[in-house]
Amino acid sequence: MTFTVLTLFPELLTPFAATSIIGRAVDRGLIKVETVDIRDFAGDPHRTCDDSPYGGGAGMVLKAEPVGDAIESVLRRRATKPRTVYLTAGGAPFDRDLARSWAAEGRELLLLAGRYEGVDQRVVDLLVDDEVSIGDYVLIGGEVAAMVVMEAVARLVPGVIQAASLAEESFEGDVLEYPQYTRPAVFRGVPVPPVLLSGDHARIREWRRGRAAERTARLRPDLVRRSEPCSN
Ligand code: SAM
Repeated sequence: MTFTVLTLFPELLTPFAATSIIGRAVDRGLIKVETVDIRDFAGDPHRTCDDSPYGGGAGMVLKAEPVGDAIESVLRRRATKPRTVYLTAGGAPFDRDLARSWAAEGRELLLLAGRYEGVDQRVVDLLVDDEVSIGDYVLIGGEVAAMVVMEAVARLVPGVIQAASLAEESFEGDVLEYPQYTRPAVFRGVPVPPVLLSGDHARIREWRRGRAAERTARLRPDLVRRSEPCSN
């Protein structure tokens, strides 16, 4: 699966694409991470990509021409149309279901990272398929959001992570994952829950189910409500 990020700061993506599980998935040819520098499509020697907003107001806006030309330069080179996604605080919430459906679709994701006050709306209207937000807060730019989307989708691409690791994770069945422990058996006087040392797999499963339910109720009551059958 290919991820192409359109950005003013491609250097932010270089270590991301070369490190840890993402780096190994790239090396193994399971995914590709490419960047397109929006400034390469600026029309002037200063490589200007921003201008002040029509109607006044604070800040600058990413200009339509370089962003539009950058997107179209990728679309022209592809035999299959990528899904073009604008990362924006005002987008639909990006969640596990979306990550899963994009991974299953396997189509290239063209991720547009905004800067300043955002991108000229005409580019969004003409060339963007989806607008997504990674949370109810405002970032400085869309690159970190693009990395979030890439990690969430890439780890669901077959072969990137062991299938067994994916099965019991948070949000599977609207429940958070149970707490994890590793050696040493006692850390600063706090022992590992004894059941985990018992070797009794049925009891361990039962204990994990209980802890997962307790954590979900405490930290994410909204997930508990979502999974309850509707009363009317
Ligand atoms: N003026 C914009 C607003 O009020 O929604 C905020 C622009 S923000 C400073 C610059 C860029 O960061 C945006 O164009 C977008 O690409 C990215 N961004 C900021 N918050 C984000 C979020 N929660 N999810 C995804 N992208 C975000």
